[in-house]
Amino acid sequence: MKKQLSNSKSTDVVVVGSIAFDTLETPFGKISKALGGSASYFSLSAGNFCKPHVVGIVGSDFPDTDFTILKKGNADTGSIEKAAGKTFHWQGKYHFDLNTRDTIKTELGVFANFKPVLNVNLKNAEYIFLGNIHPSLQLSVLKQIKKPKLVGLDTMNLWIETALPDLKKVISLIDIFIINDSEARQLSKEHNIYKAAKIILKMMGHNKNSVLVIKRGEYGLLLFKKTEVFHLPGLPIEDVIDPTGAGDSFAGGFFGYLALKRNANTQTLRKACLYGTAMASLCVENFGTKKLQNVNKNKIESRIKLLQKLVKI
Ligand code: AMP
Repeated sequence: MKKQLSNSKSTDVVVVGSIAFDTLETPFGKISKALGGSASYFSLSAGNFCKPHVVGIVGSDFPDTDFTILKKGNADTGSIEKAAGKTFHWQGKYHFDLNTRDTIKTELGVFANFKPVLNVNLKNAEYIFLGNIHPSLQLSVLKQIKKPKLVGLDTMNLWIETALPDLKKVISLIDIFIINDSEARQLSKEHNIYKAAKIILKMMGHNKNSVLVIKRGEYGLLLFKKTEVFHLPGLPIEDVIDPTGAGDSFAGGFFGYLALKRNANTQTLRKACLYGTAMASLCVENFGTKKLQNVNKNKIESRIKLLQKLVKI
């Protein structure tokens, strides 16, 4: 089991998302059918801060070695259903700048008929992260939670294009929304990022505690609340090998840290941005989940120090 960043009993976090085989090509090489998916990256990152309980589905082709990777990363895999059929498979190819990628293939496999059913313990969880997956599945998980305390959400352009009514429903029910800048523009239909943030906060109900994090890739992030804006740059990483999962790793570090601290006040949110950024910077330094599998407390804390030095005036 992973050594946590705190010695107190770790907070339970329910995460739903994809558990995938990823086939990836970047200017630095290729990997085929490696463990991937939004829930996998999230939990390998968040497992350094909390106890992730992964809700998802895999096919009969999913190997025990991949279950072991998730468990070693501190995840509870007891709510991952193994069904007859093929595991979700995503294939992507990155452009030279690594900021843009093309989806070559998305094969839903067993995800096409997935109906998540949470056990009694998970229904009582307080911290829930709705990782990138069809918004109807996110809604079905959220509806089963009895008394959610903090709910986070991630999504992608595909759902903005194909499942907007369901997505808007989920957005209106959550506390923390993490998306990237192009998705924010697409969702709000507004080019200016500050105006876009206002529109999205309104979709969230414009509650004074609603938090919107807009990721800007290598340039960092903006965090918005009704009356606050916070900016954090990205870490200057020289060896970016594979950006896959950077967003989910950010979410894992960010949300995992909030769960660890059991609050989302201004100071904790800002520190959560540091931890999310540190986890994303580690993720991109190797293919797939390889780097996240070997992360430890010291590596994370040294990234935090670098980041603090970067913004010290
Ligand atoms: P990120 O690079 O943070 O956007 O996340 C990449 C991960 O998202 C990959 O591991 C993919 O398996 C997963 N993914 C890609 N497309 C989808 C999709 N339509 N639904 C759920 N997960 C997806």
